[in-house]
Amino acid sequence: MWGPRTDDPMPAVSVSARPAPLIDPFQRAITYLRVSVTDRCDLRCVYCMSEDMTFLPKRDLLTLEELDRVCSVFVARGVRKLRITGGEPLVRRDIMRLFRNLSRHLESGALEEMTLTTNGTRLRQHAAELAALGMRRINVSLDTLDPEKFRAITRRGDLPTVLDGIAAAREAGLKVKINAVALKGVNEDEISGMLEWAHGLGMEMTLIEVMPLGDIEPERVDQFLPLSVVRERLSERYSLTPLPDRTGGPARYVRVEETGGRLGFITPLTHNFCESCNRVRLTCTGQLYMCLGQEDAADLRAALRASPDDAVVAEAIAEAISRKPKGHDFVIARAAKPAVPRHMSTTGG
Ligand code: SAM
Ligand code: SF4
Repeated sequence: MWGPRTDDPMPAVSVSARPAPLIDPFQRAITYLRVSVTDRCDLRCVYCMSEDMTFLPKRDLLTLEELDRVCSVFVARGVRKLRITGGEPLVRRDIMRLFRNLSRHLESGALEEMTLTTNGTRLRQHAAELAALGMRRINVSLDTLDPEKFRAITRRGDLPTVLDGIAAAREAGLKVKINAVALKGVNEDEISGMLEWAHGLGMEMTLIEVMPLGDIEPERVDQFLPLSVVRERLSERYSLTPLPDRTGGPARYVRVEETGGRLGFITPLTHNFCESCNRVRLTCTGQLYMCLGQEDAADLRAALRASPDDAVVAEAIAEAISRKPKGHDFVIARAAKPAVPRHMSTTGG
């Protein structure tokens, strides 16, 4: 059934519990869908967006009804984990309606997990309801604990608001993971401080290498800090025990013995993680990318708008999965073009 709103006009795609997963040509089961619900954001992180972003016209975006429908068809085809991202998902008007409606798949058991990646600015308003809908954990992106640096990195953000949002999420019982992009000369001196702060509050932390996505002003090669260097520096100070944990994604984990917490490293540029890839990404305009680092996409908006029949959408999804490539090919080199021209905020990080 739909969420608590009885006046909701969205039609419900019916989903039986535990459908068989979609399998790609390399025998990988596609069980994880990341959905960008907007390209807009209330921040302008230097590695993610340019100062003057031109956002998409609203008519190009999938409506909340279309987002619900396409996610539900994926769930019906065996997707077990759904991550809502953006842009900043919580700035989309009425976004809680989508969460309310999708939570029916958690209730039915068809979906194992519904989660969110957010910059945290609006968590104070929404964390309690997200937890009540069955969300168990979220990722919050935060690159520094210094208010001035935070304003500089995000070009406008207010750190206390984000810290208060994180507190609200924790109060609501959500597990919070902190995602920090490692930026050369910007936050590299802060990483151990952030780690101790996050682990001290029982939060996991993941470090991310800058990826060459979208044209932005400063040359990305100047921001690029290899996580191999960060890891080496951290291991001078802490005992890092590699963990076998795998999520089917690019993260590799260690336990920091001194803090007892888990630290993840996402190193798409220095490691190849494609062989275990279980995910696909849907942009806010309904383009399905089978690989973050490749151009090929399937237009699910066209399928959604072509017919009210969910079988048409399911067919388009199956066709797209049959084209999922074996892997990607990112290269960061001075003066090189971005490997893919779209921004992370469009594809969904
Ligand atoms: N606005 C939300 C947020 O910041 O968490 C969700 C979308 S954001 C695009 C998702 C993640 O992508 C964030 O953790 C952000 O730091 C990361 N990101 C954005 N651009 C990136 C880039 N060029 N390289 C690596 N990570 C990037
Ligand atoms: Fe916005 Fe997230 Fe991109 Fe920062 S990383 S500009 S918060 S979408």
